Amino acid sequence: MAAPMRRFASFIHHINRSNSLLMSGRSRVICQRCRYLSSLEHHDYDLAVIGGGSGGLACAKEAASYNKKIVVLDYVEPTPNGTQWGLGGTCVNVGCIPKKLMHQASLLGEAIEDSRHYGWKVPTDINHSWEEMVEAVQNHVRSLNWGHRVQLKDKRVEYLNAKGTFVDEHTVKAVMRNGDERTLTAGNIVLATGMRPRYPTNVPGAVEHSMTSDDLFSLTKSPGKTLVIGGSYVALECAGFLKGLDLPVTVMVRSICLRGFDQQMAGLVTGYMEDTGIEFLWQSTPKSLERNNDGTISVRWSDCRGHEEMDTFDTVLFAIGRDPQTTKLGLENTSVKLHSNGKILGRNEQSSVPHIYAIGDILEGCNELTPVAIKAGKLLAHRLFGGRSEVMDYEKVATTVFTPLEYGTVGLSEEDAIQRYQEDDLEIYHAFYKPLEYSVADRSSDQCYIKAICLREGEQRILGLHIVGPNAGEIIQGFAVAIKCGVSYRQLASTVGVHPTCAEELVKLHITKRSGLDPTVTGC
Ligand code: FAD
Ligand code: NDP
Repeated sequence: MAAPMRRFASFIHHINRSNSLLMSGRSRVICQRCRYLSSLEHHDYDLAVIGGGSGGLACAKEAASYNKKIVVLDYVEPTPNGTQWGLGGTCVNVGCIPKKLMHQASLLGEAIEDSRHYGWKVPTDINHSWEEMVEAVQNHVRSLNWGHRVQLKDKRVEYLNAKGTFVDEHTVKAVMRNGDERTLTAGNIVLATGMRPRYPTNVPGAVEHSMTSDDLFSLTKSPGKTLVIGGSYVALECAGFLKGLDLPVTVMVRSICLRGFDQQMAGLVTGYMEDTGIEFLWQSTPKSLERNNDGTISVRWSDCRGHEEMDTFDTVLFAIGRDPQTTKLGLENTSVKLHSNGKILGRNEQSSVPHIYAIGDILEGCNELTPVAIKAGKLLAHRLFGGRSEVMDYEKVATTVFTPLEYGTVGLSEEDAIQRYQEDDLEIYHAFYKPLEYSVADRSSDQCYIKAICLREGEQRILGLHIVGPNAGEIIQGFAVAIKCGVSYRQLASTVGVHPTCAEELVKLHITKRSGLDPTVTGC
């Protein structure tokens, strides 16, 4: 690099270090570009990405389109049960993908039951093979692992199956699977190491005798009678598909389910799960786990009255939250600042060290969702190397809980809307509806419900949309675009529905909660 350029780069580097946490969003974006100039001081790579999951891979692949020298380090620490997997991170290996496929397996079981009502002569003694399902799911997962490797190669991104730790702020030590070590330097470093399931620290036998979602999707034999501990996304989704595969399932919840979500909707989700035969142990906490001679596990817990209870299970699955993978990154060798929860503090994905960035689950304030990690990673690559300025918007991100009856949502819950606005300033439209397909199949639609939370004044801008019902994930995606564009209730109501669908019930909403009228949809 020419001397004036080097001096300019060094000047920018100095300014950025002192100002980075004080800058406005726009100036930080401009400085992310400046930082790229400063990174032209000699380093082995323009960009090193630690963590080859949703966010890290997206960032690396996008950055590669600018002809930069890029390396991705990815390493999977085995679970306490020894489970390990390939490139692609949580979503591909132990998250969204195997979960959704197993959700589908369970929905197919329901569809087989429904089909009898539609004239299909299905034998009565049909059963499900866990082993065949796992093999098929894992084959797909392996194809995705392979696909990621090929894409990195095609884009000339170097991939190291290695654990990365900081030596200093520009230097990373890579420890390969066989123990070999390599030290590399990079102008920019992106951290995308994700989260891993947490075990309780105060429950004897928990680590030795239980598992987490990291083990479940590749289990070579059926989990049998299962106790799921936890009340959020992972717990309810796993409990839901296990029950759908005809396994006895109990869910132990210490407080409420789906904290942070609209609690009326959460109640419908768990209500439906209870109707399918899942037992819920409310306000209960585990005390100990013990392995019996026959391989089963005896679990003692404290119930809602504080009484000790005991039962025996084939499998105990802890789904009590996930810890950010920041403790073994050598961050003590940098000035990267962490939140008390272990996540990295930053603005526009930039940490307190200007050339070190964090994306995905480990970034404080980031929704822990795959498409969020991917979008943030891509946008960061464009800002770093493409001179672009668009930053990630973490607001109004749609999500779906893939429970037996899916729950799709975007925007504010009723509780949050009431907290942010006066209750009297809100108008809430709602409807209980019956999916047409349920009628012939004679299925209960008691929990199929839609809610639109709107401002009461003027055009009635929609603040939050919620739907519990079949295919809610597919439905909410399109409506999320409208919400992002600031859609009002008037515009929603002036939209013509697609008949006969569940989605049309959203554009037909007309009963307000305030009116007290029966919100049950009758007829077409
Ligand atoms: P990850 O994908 O977790 O990738 C991080 C990678 O970094 C991992 O491979 C890790 O092993 C590696 N790593 C860690 N430390 C190091 C190191 N020091 N050196 C090298 N490599 C390291 N989201 C959705 O949007 N939809 C869903 O349906 C959904 N379902 C889910 C179901 C389950 C059971 C779980 C657990 C999560 C689910 N999620 C879902 C969340 C989603 O999987 C995550 O939000 C997403 O994977 C986060 O991506 P990431 O890039 O931040 O991290
Ligand atoms: P969460 O942190 O969301 O929930 C943890 C749950 O475990 C809560 O119900 C909590 O109860 C309970 N809990 C915590 N500690 C204990 C304890 N010691 N004993 C008993 N119960 C306990 O974690 P998840 O793992 O479910 O989800 C993590 C993230 O992954 C989600 O935020 C989501 O973004 C993502 N994800 C997305 C999915 C999707 O898009 N479909 C699916 C799965 C995950 P309490 O409320 O009392 O604290």
